[in-house]
Amino acid sequence: MRRADVTTYLDQLFPPGLAEPWDHSGLQVGPLSAPCRRIIVALDFDISLTSELTGVDLVILHHPLLFHPPERIDPATPLGEKLRALLSSGTACYAVHTPYDVARGGQGECLAGLLGLRDVRPLSPRGELVKLAVFVPEGHVDQVAEAMFSAGAGKIGRYGHCSFRTPGTGTFLPEEGTRPFIGEPGREERVAEVRLETIAPRERLPQVIAAMRTAHPYEEVAFDLYPLLNRGELHGLGRVGVLPEPTPTGELIERFAEKLGARDPILYGDPDRKVKKVAVCGGSGGSLWREALTAGAQLFLTGEIGYHDGLEAGEAGLTVVALGHRETEHPFVGHVAALLREEFPDLEVTER
Ligand SMILES: [Zn+2]
Repeated sequence: MRRADVTTYLDQLFPPGLAEPWDHSGLQVGPLSAPCRRIIVALDFDISLTSELTGVDLVILHHPLLFHPPERIDPATPLGEKLRALLSSGTACYAVHTPYDVARGGQGECLAGLLGLRDVRPLSPRGELVKLAVFVPEGHVDQVAEAMFSAGAGKIGRYGHCSFRTPGTGTFLPEEGTRPFIGEPGREERVAEVRLETIAPRERLPQVIAAMRTAHPYEEVAFDLYPLLNRGELHGLGRVGVLPEPTPTGELIERFAEKLGARDPILYGDPDRKVKKVAVCGGSGGSLWREALTAGAQLFLTGEIGYHDGLEAGEAGLTVVALGHRETEHPFVGHVAALLREEFPDLEVTER
């Protein structure tokens, strides 16, 4: 078994394509081609890890070690020391950060499971589908389709490049001052065109439309967008769900804080109400409090929230509890370690 087998498996569960644009998930230090027997799963690359790398083939992190890629490597700095330790022990390092945060079956389901939530859905859902139909002159269909596919359109489950193409006749009358690709101003044209239709996730639409316009030969591109009731696999940050029965806020916080090892929860808003609908987002999830309120949650459990956001949420009727960034994200370690042990029974997995 190779290190790449482990990272490929993690990529299948938490696809790198779901990463936030500012994230630096993925390979931190190679190589991944070497054999893999022992791995460490950790939330952060603490400096103490540098003395534990002998015989370790791969470190799986949640927070990337190279989050702000350095301009130079100075072994006298903590980052330099960590990189030196990895390179000298030949240990590879791989981060699964925001793909874990947003993917179905990642952080959201893990925390919702600890709380015992049911009917769980993303707080800020992505993956809604839109149908896009564009009218393209014959001979240019493949280039337009290819551009849209590269920008994220045309994916249905594990099938890519999905489209449907119907030939027909397009008509148009270019006004004075236009520079038509076919015909001339003031004369009606009839052109053999193809109605090219495909689907795209709603959040990818700006890129897909931009790519379509660039690849399309016409000055004015005719296209239609239709919202779809069928949807892709919904994912996104945070989760909201319902408890089996209304539970006093204090009791729920105590239970959750104990599971997470959170010692000093900070509470904003009403501490005494009974709650049924609960939202949760680990780490710096505080900015999602409006989504939690809109989703009908009475309580929002997160890692960190700014003081003023907390006050505003409390006054708006949402009780918010901050349980700590590390505390709400550390379940990553046990969760990912368990997934790897199940998939690769021969692998020796240490949790940090
Ligand atoms: Zn984090």
